[in-house]
Amino acid sequence: MKNIAVIGAGTMGNGIAHTFAQFNYNVHLIDVSQGALDKGMATISKNLDRMVAKEKISEADKTQTLANITTFTTIKDGAKNVDLVVEAATENVSLKSKIFKELDEVCNENTILATNTSSISITQIAAVTNRPEKVIGMHFMNPVPIMKLVEIIRGYNTTDNVMNTIVDLSKKVNKIPVEVNDYPGFVANRILMPMINESIETLYNGVAGVKEIDTVMMLGMAHPMGPLQLADFIGLDVCLSILNVMHDGFKNPKYAPCPLLVNMVMAGKLGIKSGEGFYDYSESRKAERVAKMFS
Ligand code: NAD
Repeated sequence: MKNIAVIGAGTMGNGIAHTFAQFNYNVHLIDVSQGALDKGMATISKNLDRMVAKEKISEADKTQTLANITTFTTIKDGAKNVDLVVEAATENVSLKSKIFKELDEVCNENTILATNTSSISITQIAAVTNRPEKVIGMHFMNPVPIMKLVEIIRGYNTTDNVMNTIVDLSKKVNKIPVEVNDYPGFVANRILMPMINESIETLYNGVAGVKEIDTVMMLGMAHPMGPLQLADFIGLDVCLSILNVMHDGFKNPKYAPCPLLVNMVMAGKLGIKSGEGFYDYSESRKAERVAKMFS
């Protein structure tokens, strides 16, 4: 395993590319948007600067990491002759199906196809390919270069061999892989999203305010950030879409998204990315709030 294509240069894709490149894998970063590729590379460079400043890596490591990444705007050019593809494009079933169909045609028969999806069924994505046994979930956490966990999701047809290869690879890039089966929300979001949804419901019912709910959970449960702040960080649209996937998948009303969450997403209040969610992230306050989350 030496050559890895990463599809999507957004929040997750640039973090995944950064991580593999830092451990000297040859990374092909692919995005349909040249702007997204430029922004993704700028983010990687800035995050590497931060690591140099903290003396976690040297200036030479930074230069080598950046040199290990080549950018492409098409799958046809970027995904041929790679050993692994990690797809981190927008969370949308039809988009991912289209990407996996193309990957199946472009990649050689031994290439493993992984997806970083937060909620879409691995088995469903695998079914559009002629190699469902080589399709697997590799669910990194945000921010990827910092967070240790990778949920490794076994699709219905994923072989032990492919599972073991991806578990080993995750360890080689200093992550801690946890193997899980392919059911809606996997493990991380199945447990996290009901907690976030219940926090929003608590606010909606007027039991307490935003700050009070987050303070109870931070100080009372030793969580590093409150659930409403975490929802802003993940993106309220992402939270809503994961809850909808679990609600549809299990047909259980306990996963029904809170009407306040639905309204906020419809109103364009998506959290940090839109400048406002449960907290205010207008430009003047953004740096301060984001820094606080990781202090
Ligand atoms: P994002 O919106 O930041 O980035 C998505 C990128 O995909 C964009 O740059 C877009 O241009 C690109 N893209 C769209 N169509 C494409 C195509 N056909 N080919 C190549 N690139 C294409 O999204 P994100 O937050 O990085 O999420 C990516 C994936 O990771 C999703 O499946 C999401 O569920 C999952 N995920 C997100 C988080 C999170 O906290 N944001 C955490 C874990 C997993």
